Amino acid sequence: MGYQLRGYQQELIDRIRQSLASGHRHIIVQSPPRTGKTVVMAEIARRTTDKGNRACFIIHRKEVLEQAKATFQEQGVDPDLLEAGMVQSLTRHVDTMKSPEVILIDEAHHALAKSYRRILEAFPTAYVLLFTATPVRTGRNQLDEIADDIIVGKSIKELTEQGFLAPFKYYAAKDKDVDDQKLRRSSTGDYVTASIEEAVSHKIYSHTVDEYLTKAGGKQAVVYTYSVEAANHLAGEFNARGITAEAIDATTPAQVRDTAVLAFRDQKLKVLVNVNLFTEGIDLPNVDCVIMVRPTMSLALYMQFSMRCLNPRPGKTAVIIDQVGNWERFGLPNTDRDWKALAKSKASPAKSLKRGGVQVIQCPDCFGVVEKSEVEDNTCPLCGYYPLVRKRDYEEQKAQLVEIKPSDQVKRIKKIISDQVMLNVSTKRIDQLQSRQEFQAYAKLHGYKPGWVWYMWDKKRKGTI
Ligand SMILES: [Zn+2]
Repeated sequence: MGYQLRGYQQELIDRIRQSLASGHRHIIVQSPPRTGKTVVMAEIARRTTDKGNRACFIIHRKEVLEQAKATFQEQGVDPDLLEAGMVQSLTRHVDTMKSPEVILIDEAHHALAKSYRRILEAFPTAYVLLFTATPVRTGRNQLDEIADDIIVGKSIKELTEQGFLAPFKYYAAKDKDVDDQKLRRSSTGDYVTASIEEAVSHKIYSHTVDEYLTKAGGKQAVVYTYSVEAANHLAGEFNARGITAEAIDATTPAQVRDTAVLAFRDQKLKVLVNVNLFTEGIDLPNVDCVIMVRPTMSLALYMQFSMRCLNPRPGKTAVIIDQVGNWERFGLPNTDRDWKALAKSKASPAKSLKRGGVQVIQCPDCFGVVEKSEVEDNTCPLCGYYPLVRKRDYEEQKAQLVEIKPSDQVKRIKKIISDQVMLNVSTKRIDQLQSRQEFQAYAKLHGYKPGWVWYMWDKKRKGTI
């Protein structure tokens, strides 16, 4: 009966219990997208209603309400003791609501809005759990205004290592068809659609299909766009080039939308182009590629967009294609972020949001985007291109890197492996070297520059040595 909780989900619940036990009442619970937050909430609701207490579940969008309700039912939550609904409707009849013991808020980065506050103020004694992947808002005011504790879940990198999320390759546009100067932000902090329309060149349609074909040809892809018109243009471009695609948005009749989703699920439709639809939690299996054609300043949206393709499957590596430079604003989706600091109102959003302080770099050859710490010997880990950055810059970076203490085991393990490879190649001739790692070790042993590795490995791959 119900869902068996994964280790990290159980751990979240244990930590929530500890926080409540130590006297906290309003707790932010951070956990990345696609890690089953609804199941965790359903389990908490079940435990609440099992004791005869009432639970309230607040959601932001109607598209996900039915799905979430089904999960709660599956988990065995007593429906008579559960009030589940959209914030807009709950806030209207808050006066007639029975007092809940626990209030569970989904996508809680929205929870500073008046509609939420009205509900929270109506039930001052309730325990409030604020679930979100991104406990940060684009404005100055942060969630600490309504919370007294924050629990930070496992990081995306950890969850990927444990197989709960798929690894990915991230590619950014060769020629960005966006004039950032023209992007204007609204009072909510994200870009105004009209300004995106002005900033984005129409070349983006054909370029997007080009990128899909070279980086993710044949993969089931979801495309995020900024307007119905752009979505239709893009779907048209895909179809014109023999790739089945359909454009859907919030105004698409439910029947048409369901048919498209079913066709995508059955892999009869390769590409689903959408406008603000597949963001918060809507189920869509088999997504192996995400294409972003919508610039955003919202970290929440960026994470929801880019991580849509990270449901794992054995052997899968997802592909994220960023046509609009979102990586320049946020780094990579799995960039480690200091959520505790971000959830504080004093944090300067412009500074702290940006890439979480992590340096990312774009390869000039394959246009992949990688964290600098993942780069070895100035060589692109995605395509082997060298040099990834100008030599002088690289030397400077290396000098800086020395100051970072190698705290994790990974670095030590990598060293052991590289020592072993070094030992293996010590008695080999150049023509006996088999892998790029062996060429790298050989170069180190004989004092050759990384450029030698790149040149020789290229020759080896071409079979000319
Ligand atoms: Zn590359």
